[in-house]
Amino acid sequence: MVNRKTAPPPYRGVQTPDEFITQMGNVWIGLIEKIASDPDQNSALAGYFGVEPEVIDSWIEARGRTRCSASVPGGRRCANLVGLKVEYDPRVWAEERLRCTAHGPG
Ligand SMILES: [Zn+2]
Repeated sequence: MVNRKTAPPPYRGVQTPDEFITQMGNVWIGLIEKIASDPDQNSALAGYFGVEPEVIDSWIEARGRTRCSASVPGGRRCANLVGLKVEYDPRVWAEERLRCTAHGPG
């Protein structure tokens, strides 16, 4: 049973990468049309925003959600998502520095 008084607000962000891209296209008017003919959409987006293609890959994978900036043993980045914000600018997204509850603030 869900306690309505303490349950977190429902996640209102997009659910799939395709839905995220659609939403992103609603924010960046004309962008989807601009890259539509490019066979490598992620590289086209990377070029448009001036970021590395890997940033675009991670951004879409996280669907714009803030990803924990801590590293886990082995050197990979923590995969936990922080908060409910959805960021549609990959340049801003890449600069976000927040940590999940397991890794503490910082
Ligand atoms: Zn973490």
